[in-house]
Amino acid sequence: MLYAPGRYNLNYDISAILLNVIIMIFFLTKKKVRDRRVKLFMSLEFILCVAAAGGLGTALIRNGTIVCSSATKTVVTIIAHYSHNSVGFLILLYLLEILGRLRTMRKAQLFLISVPQMILTVFMFVPGLRHTIFYYDADGNYFHGPMRDWLYYTIVIIYLIIGIIGLMRHKRTLVRKDLYYSLFVAIGFVASMITERVGRYLRACVFLQSLCMLAVYVTIENDDETFDYETGLLSRYSLWKEARFLFDNKRTSYMISVRLQDDNYYDVMLGPDITRGVKRQMTDWMARLMNERVRVFYPGRGTFAIELFNSTKDEAMSVAEKIRQRYEYSWLYKNTPAYYTVQVVVGCIPDVIKTQDQLITFVDNGFDVSLPADQVLFADELMKSEVRKADVERALHRALDNQSFKVYYQPIYDTEEGKIRSCEALVRMIDDELGFVSPEEFIKVAEQTGLVSQIGEIVFEKVCRYLHDVKPQQYGLEFVEVNLSTVQCMDTNLPDRFTEIMQKYGVTADQIDLEITESAVVNDENTMIHVLNRLTDMGFSFALDDFGTGNANYSYIIKYPFCLIKIDKSFLWGSEKNAENATILRNMVNLISELDRLAVVEGVETVGQKEKLIANGVRYLQGYYYSKPVPEDDFTKYIRDFNANTSEEA
Ligand code: C2E
Ligand code: CA
Ligand code: CA
Repeated sequence: MLYAPGRYNLNYDISAILLNVIIMIFFLTKKKVRDRRVKLFMSLEFILCVAAAGGLGTALIRNGTIVCSSATKTVVTIIAHYSHNSVGFLILLYLLEILGRLRTMRKAQLFLISVPQMILTVFMFVPGLRHTIFYYDADGNYFHGPMRDWLYYTIVIIYLIIGIIGLMRHKRTLVRKDLYYSLFVAIGFVASMITERVGRYLRACVFLQSLCMLAVYVTIENDDETFDYETGLLSRYSLWKEARFLFDNKRTSYMISVRLQDDNYYDVMLGPDITRGVKRQMTDWMARLMNERVRVFYPGRGTFAIELFNSTKDEAMSVAEKIRQRYEYSWLYKNTPAYYTVQVVVGCIPDVIKTQDQLITFVDNGFDVSLPADQVLFADELMKSEVRKADVERALHRALDNQSFKVYYQPIYDTEEGKIRSCEALVRMIDDELGFVSPEEFIKVAEQTGLVSQIGEIVFEKVCRYLHDVKPQQYGLEFVEVNLSTVQCMDTNLPDRFTEIMQKYGVTADQIDLEITESAVVNDENTMIHVLNRLTDMGFSFALDDFGTGNANYSYIIKYPFCLIKIDKSFLWGSEKNAENATILRNMVNLISELDRLAVVEGVETVGQKEKLIANGVRYLQGYYYSKPVPEDDFTKYIRDFNANTSEEA
């Protein structure tokens, strides 16, 4: 009964119904998020089910198994034909959805692509027009109308062409494998239609299309990739794919990064069972924010990402505020309350977040500053500084690769002898892309990225080479100040490497004085003391840099082996503003000399400053009044001329 030669084969339609029902059940039980994409996929599945059932009905009617009135036959045929021929339109919508185009299309465009489907609808449901497609005569025999093939095939071809053009035009939006899968499915649909032309009694078309949908289900709709395993929200991979779309598209969108501050702490404190339960509540709450324009991702690492497509700053800030306010209350699971602190940051695409990489950095919240948790932050300056930091880091790598770091020297004047007896070595980086970058900026980045040790060694070697090649001692130079970063002071290999370099150039430790900035002193004392002791044993002396600006107090001066104390320039400049500051500076100088250390004042720019400091008994002066930091050759000339002239004067 099911199959007889010359009669309609029913097997494929039955299989198609079963297949689609199974896919629908799987799909619905696994997907936690019901967005438009899920709805479209389900509609396609449903319509294929109806088409298969309708096809089965018409085949049974025509096989003569079912006997019924012409009116019933007409209704069954309408269901079969209309559903089957609507697949093209739905496939196009689904394709446009995965390309993200449904979100960006204007109403007029949407209307335009609906026109063929509307024509089909009109022809199908207006009885007079339906006659041009099919009809049953009085005896219940089925007839094709003249418009049937013309209408059905034109509509499907139109939709296919639009679909393929859309795919090719926006292929950058899709990751490559999704692009191939989509093309494969489009071809599968064409092939299925060919089987319909070739074997009239075969009736395999709907089944083949259902197979294509199965392929879509296991590839493009692959749950393991699309959804986060733990929360069921959109995954990190989905976020990555979405980022492609966002940067391919010119619309202003916002991303909200919601980062749980105490994620690890709660994991440990409450145990995995409770935290999972609490997270599930958070997830459900977050999932309720979703709509056509709002998507919620869980990229992992205790961070939610909420995307507001094509929206305004006000909208984004209000969603962010809503989230932040929710976290003021506890999450309750099995009577255990958990208060999570969150950091909510809003970033604008593409104004502030400019690339796919930056988006991921932003969401993961790679900011190294600790942000307050009691307000929503707008990642404007924040992100810009992150971007700048990344740029500077690349410039540092370039400078290391091209060996383009330079060392400039700034003279230090000895007030007792009236001569330049010392100088400070200051590193310089001039990058092809960024131009001059201040060491104040790049040393910080180098410290954070671990590059500062390499840079410090380069500076140290250049100084030794200068002392060896030029021998500025002959012009009266006694020692060079070299800056040591915090990070270098924690490096127990540093003394050995310095020894090697000094041996290579025949330089002795008394020719070099190491400057350590005040904030460095408080870091990790034991390692620091160990390194400093070894350097002292080697014969180095030390200067405490930027004195007065950090956390160090006077006890540090005696605790560590500092000979020179460099008073930060802000004290000199401040002393000119009022009498109190002047008193502070004078007392600092006095205290340093009473402790038997030598004071250096930085930032001397005028003759008035110089005279006052000399009157105060400051031993060394450094500043633009004498010279800015200058290249090696200029410095050699400067010290030679300066010390020669002062000798003549003397
Ligand atoms: P610092 O050690 O306090 O260096 C003194 C800074 O003050 C230098 O800035 C110098 O150019 C500037 N300066 C000196 N006299 C005057 C003055 O009269 N007026 C004004 N307005 N500025 C003056 P520079 O070269 O930009 O260095 C900035 C900081 O970068 C340094 O502060 C130091 O902390 C760091 N740095 C520079 N070179 C190195 C290095 O080789 N290694 C390490 N670790 N840090 C370095
Ligand atoms: Ca210094
Ligand atoms: Ca300083």
